[in-house]
Amino acid sequence: MIKTRAIVLHRYAYSDSSWIAKALTEECGIVSFIVKGGKRKESPFKGALDPLALSEVIFRQNPNAELQFIREATLLDWRKNMREDLLSLAKAQVMAEIILRYAPAGVPLESEFASLERATDEFEHAKDLPKSNIFVNWLMETCDMWGYNLNLGTCSRCGKSLDAPAADFFPETGALVCQECLGTGTPRARAETVQGFWKLLSNNEIENPQFAENAILAYLRHHIGFLKDIKSIQFLNDTRKLYL
Ligand SMILES: [Zn+2]
Repeated sequence: MIKTRAIVLHRYAYSDSSWIAKALTEECGIVSFIVKGGKRKESPFKGALDPLALSEVIFRQNPNAELQFIREATLLDWRKNMREDLLSLAKAQVMAEIILRYAPAGVPLESEFASLERATDEFEHAKDLPKSNIFVNWLMETCDMWGYNLNLGTCSRCGKSLDAPAADFFPETGALVCQECLGTGTPRARAETVQGFWKLLSNNEIENPQFAENAILAYLRHHIGFLKDIKSIQFLNDTRKLYL
């Protein structure tokens, strides 16, 4: 029997009364659970298997089965504050979908779990702290975890450490270019993007994080080729408009 913490990434109906919940577990990577009777009001699982909730699950792992039967699920944190803040929720949904679709299959994903747990925990509890950097930080960590390390501190042309915001950024390669190397050239990146990277580097609050977020998403897309399939990005874009 396995007992592990888990965050549900995606859930869908399996029958009139049951769910299938795909969860990122702390110990076993992504596991698909069949949750019999999960849709009933008196289900013992209650909110424990709601998407993005943090729970502890107990199950017997059958390596020959695609779906695992869940024995118990105990809700640890439903992420109430995060759900009430649409922008945080939209960002968390993008994180969940990226992990679901692009994390390596069939292996433990301890770092991915730690990173998603921390980000959702920050969305939940960072009421008085700036929330703006949480998603960018998560994207940076994900680049690192999946082998696409992004160096925001160095000019890719002259190799010097940046002592001011970079002048340009190339999402195809992840390269930053300093003002001296760019010279009189016209940057392709927006000023908000490189400003955002600069703030991130010094751990300061990013004012318009969507530019840095989109730039790193574009960088990731060039490396793993996704985004078109990430449905929750549309919801994030729609939600961002409400906050302008
Ligand atoms: Zn340079």
